[in-house]
Amino acid sequence: MGKIIAISNQKGGTGKTTTTVNLGIGLANEGKKVLLIDYDAQGSLTQCLGYPNPDELSVTISNLMEKSINEQPTEHGEGILHHSEGVDFIPANIELSGMETLLVNTMSRERVLKNYLSQIKDNYDYVLIDCTPSLGMLTINALTAANEVIIPVQSHFLPAKGLEQLLSTVAKVKRQLNPTLKINGILLTMVDGRTNLAKDISQLIRKTYGSNIKVFKTEIPLSVKAAETSAVGKSIYSYDKNGKVADAYRNLTKEVMDNEQRTKHKSEIIR
Ligand code: ADP
Ligand code: MG
Repeated sequence: MGKIIAISNQKGGTGKTTTTVNLGIGLANEGKKVLLIDYDAQGSLTQCLGYPNPDELSVTISNLMEKSINEQPTEHGEGILHHSEGVDFIPANIELSGMETLLVNTMSRERVLKNYLSQIKDNYDYVLIDCTPSLGMLTINALTAANEVIIPVQSHFLPAKGLEQLLSTVAKVKRQLNPTLKINGILLTMVDGRTNLAKDISQLIRKTYGSNIKVFKTEIPLSVKAAETSAVGKSIYSYDKNGKVADAYRNLTKEVMDNEQRTKHKSEIIR
């Protein structure tokens, strides 16, 4: 059964897209079948995966969602692209920006993405959703479709308030729409190990949330190599495979897979 993980933070520039690409390809490198979904009208994930002009693509996640709203079937593999490093992905472009408005008059509007994904998720071990930076209806759709959420937090700024809002949205979706939704973990990104601020923020987050929510042991270091990958259409593993960011994303991949093992084991014991 495919596990759906939403990579979400309503703030822009926290490393959502970079994490979706490199966790996704990291999982594929471990032999998992992976689908990535660009769920941001900016199409950054689509660009990172080698399509510099997403607006020229004719089939994107917004068309697929529209079909699902209109109860039209999709063909096998429709709209799904392949990346040479072993992941499938569904692109997005500016058309997704009309979706919030379209959803207003749609029946079961929170469940549109979930309904669409239910047709394809079992072809994969993992489906990762690169969420749009807002807490609007698209994010609610992603959280309703997801089994788990990963929250990348940029370690240059005090994220406290934004994080509270996001956690309260997750809690609300869990209560009203998706009772089994879990937070897989908070991920510190762009950590500049030379500064005290980064250390302070890391400690603060671990102290404030660590007792209730998993904060990944792995922290993603700040590195210009990571920033450069967006333009070359490759993962960090092929762009700078011996660098510290590649190492960090490899470790994150293991932590995500270990989380899975642990929860599986726990539920086996309970049964
Ligand atoms: P989001 O999807 O949350 O907006 P991105 O993943 O696009 O965030 O990252 C924001 C910017 O920071 C991008 O230009 C990206 O290339 C860059 N970036 C991402 N991770 C790192 C990192 N570890 N070190 C340096 N720059 C990074
Ligand atoms: Mg992004």
